[in-house]
Amino acid sequence: MADFDVAIIGAGIVGASCAYALAPTHRVALVEGESRPGYHTTGRSAALFEEAYGPRLIRQITVASRPFFENPPPGFADTPLLSPRGALFIAAAGKDASVERGLAEALPGTVVEIARKEAVALCPPLDTDWLSRALYDAAAMDMDVNAIHQGYLKGFKAAGGTLLCDAEVEAMERAGGRWTLHTRAGTVRAAHVVNAAGAWADRIAEFAGARPVGIVPKRRTAFVFEAPQPADEIARWPMACEIDETFYFKPEAGLVLASPADETPSPPCDAQPEEIDVAECAARIEMATTFEIRRIRRRWAGLRCFVADKCPVLGPDPDVQGFHWAAGPGGYGIMTSPAVGRIVAGFVRQTGLPDDISAMGVDPKEFSPARRHT
Ligand SMILES: Cc1cc2nc3c(=O)[nH]c(=O)nc-3n(C[C@H](O)[C@H](O)[C@H](O)COP(=O)(O)OP(=O)(O)OC[C@H]3O[C@@H](n4cnc5c(N)ncnc54)[C@H](O)[C@@H]3O)c2cc1C
Repeated sequence: MADFDVAIIGAGIVGASCAYALAPTHRVALVEGESRPGYHTTGRSAALFEEAYGPRLIRQITVASRPFFENPPPGFADTPLLSPRGALFIAAAGKDASVERGLAEALPGTVVEIARKEAVALCPPLDTDWLSRALYDAAAMDMDVNAIHQGYLKGFKAAGGTLLCDAEVEAMERAGGRWTLHTRAGTVRAAHVVNAAGAWADRIAEFAGARPVGIVPKRRTAFVFEAPQPADEIARWPMACEIDETFYFKPEAGLVLASPADETPSPPCDAQPEEIDVAECAARIEMATTFEIRRIRRRWAGLRCFVADKCPVLGPDPDVQGFHWAAGPGGYGIMTSPAVGRIVAGFVRQTGLPDDISAMGVDPKEFSPARRHT
């Protein structure tokens, strides 16, 4: 029977970032049900770092994550974690209220309104008859998700951490101040458990005798299609996102990645795309651009997991001792992962919120699982 200080359930980006943050001070096991980490939502993202996206709390912890991505510790990765992309928020006629809301909600200095001509110069496939107004965030970046995820895992192992794959947790119990996890790969014991099980987080809570927090996995579809422009021209375009997020598209290795930005509630599962979502997205993009989407190379879907306020659930369970939450990162889990790892590590070590995040005026109660029970 393997014995640890902390067992983290789920080796997606959230579990990996917590493991990376905790391994220097604790003996950590990262317990993953699949044969490789990142098989579920983490391996299926659109890889955009965007400080002007999501509720205020998300924007704050995204800003707090930027220094890590820009200056990771030596040896973390061989390639830059961020590369310039830019994000255009595009609006058809009649969407003025959404444009004004976009401007009002943006953190100062992130998003500006630009002229239609400028927007089309940045993203030439936009249809000038369709486009009415555009906002631009020059600071939006592409993330190298694989490098980030592998960097966490490599650093965690270098600090003495243990990754267990093919080790789905099927039951757990606590006795004498320690958890025993029954996994498909054997038994794991630990003083603390961190629940980073993505779409399955409420199921893990039930195993632990904790109250569920109401995680709703929501399917999001993506696909890549061929565009007529040469790859080096496509590579220069920003991400273009419809102002009410009814679709977006962005360059992806010489092709164009698109999404209907769907949020269809789903049970926890290996999510698959629905043909209707792909077709409707292609039609919306064709309305707003000069694209004729004929050749779709690849399609997929993943589960973005939310609670009602769209903020993550991080920290100790209010009722069950030694059980910590790292769940509900929604559509922001990659770009917030450096901050989330540090926040969860602070809760496990009982050192509180990291100073830089506290200085932003963030209150730990905003993450608390207890807010889901009132
Ligand atoms: C189409 C799409 C686009 C996106 N775009 C972006 C973007 O541009 N930027 C961004 O920041 N985010 C984006 N996201 C969101 C981001 O991908 C997620 O927030 C993030 O990957 C969630 O990570 P996670 O570790 O919580 O979940 P997961 O990656 O799903 O990891 C959870 C892990 O827990 C494991 N597990 C579950 N149950 C058990 C058990 N019983 N025992 C052991 N292991 C278990 C699972 O096997 C899984 O590996 C996007 C998501 C999608 C689908």
